[in-house]
Amino acid sequence: MAKTIAFIGLGHMGSPMARNLVAAGYTVLGFDLVPAALDQARADGVTVVATGAEAAAAADVVLTMLPAGEHVLAAYQGADGLIAAAKPGTLFIESSTIAVDDAHAAHALLLAAGHRGIDAPVSGGVVGAEAASLTIMVGGEEADFTEASKILQAVGKRVVHCGGPGAGQAAKVCNNMILGVSMIAVSEAFVLGEALGLTNQALFDVAANASGQCWALTTNCPVPGPVPTSPANNDYRPGFAGALMAKDLGLAARALEQTGVAADLGSRAEELYRRFASGPGADEDFSAIINVIRENSRR
Ligand code: NAD
Repeated sequence: MAKTIAFIGLGHMGSPMARNLVAAGYTVLGFDLVPAALDQARADGVTVVATGAEAAAAADVVLTMLPAGEHVLAAYQGADGLIAAAKPGTLFIESSTIAVDDAHAAHALLLAAGHRGIDAPVSGGVVGAEAASLTIMVGGEEADFTEASKILQAVGKRVVHCGGPGAGQAAKVCNNMILGVSMIAVSEAFVLGEALGLTNQALFDVAANASGQCWALTTNCPVPGPVPTSPANNDYRPGFAGALMAKDLGLAARALEQTGVAADLGSRAEELYRRFASGPGADEDFSAIINVIRENSRR
C-alpha cells in the first residue's frame, strides 16, 4: 500500500516536491502557514489539512521543508507539535537546510519519542525540485535510508547515504562552502583578467579547459556571454539567491566554530556574502558577488 506522507512547508521547494510525490502515487497531507501555499497545494492534488499535527497523526512519514533549524525544532516540539501527534515509530524526513547541531538535536528528539528520523537536505534549487532532479544527501540509519529512498527518488534523481544522523547536513554545508568560495575565486579571476586587458571569453576558453574548471565557471559563469544560460545573462535573477548562499555559509561558519577547523576562505566567504545579502544582493543570484569585487576594486 502506498504510504501517506505528511508534508510540512509548501514554499518554493516544498510545493513542487509535494506535487511530485502526488504524481508518484503517494497520498500527501499538506500544511503551511501561508494560505496561498495551501491553495497551490490543493490545485496540485495535495490533501490540505488544518494543522501540521493533523497531517502527522494520519501519516506513515512526516517530511519537513521549512526555512531554518529554529522552525524545524519548533514544529517538532510541544503538545501540538509533530512529534507528539505522530504514531509511534513514524519515520521523519527532514529536508530543510539546517545546522548540523540542529539536525542532531532534531534526531535526538525523535528517538526519545520512539520515532525514527533522517536528515535529507537537497541541492538543485527550485528548478531541480520542479524537475524531480534534486540531489539528496541523507544522514541516518541504513534501514531508515532504505525505507526513505523510494520516497526521495520521487523528488530527486540522486540520493546519497552520507553516514549516520547529521551526515546529510554535514555534506550539504561542505558542498556549499566549496560553491561559495569557488564563485568568489572565479569572480576575482574575471575582474583581474579584465584589469589585465583579457576578454572574459578568452579567460573562459582557457579556464574551462584547464585546471581552473569548476561549476561556478562552466555552469553559473558570473559574467554574461560565455555561458548563455547563466544568471549573469539575465540581470543576475536567481538561480540561487544571495540570501540563501549567506544562510548556508552562516551554517558553515557555525560548524567551523564548533569544530575548530581553520577555514580562512570559508570564513571570509561567509563575511562577503553576509554583507552582499544585507542589500539588494539578497534577491540577486549569488554570482552577482562579482559586482561587489568590481566596486571594491575601483577604490
Ligand atoms: P520558503 O520560505 O519558500 O518555504 C518555507 C515554507 O515553510 C513557507 O511557505 C513557510 O510559510 C512555511 N512554514 C514556516 N514555518 C512553518 C510551520 N511551522 N508550519 C508549516 N509551514 C511553515 O523556503 P524554500 O526556498 O522552500 O526553502 C526551504 C528549505 O530548503 C530551506 O531550508 C532552504 O535553505 C532549503 N533549500 C532551498 C533551496 C532554494 O533554491 N530555494 C535550495 C536548496 C535548499
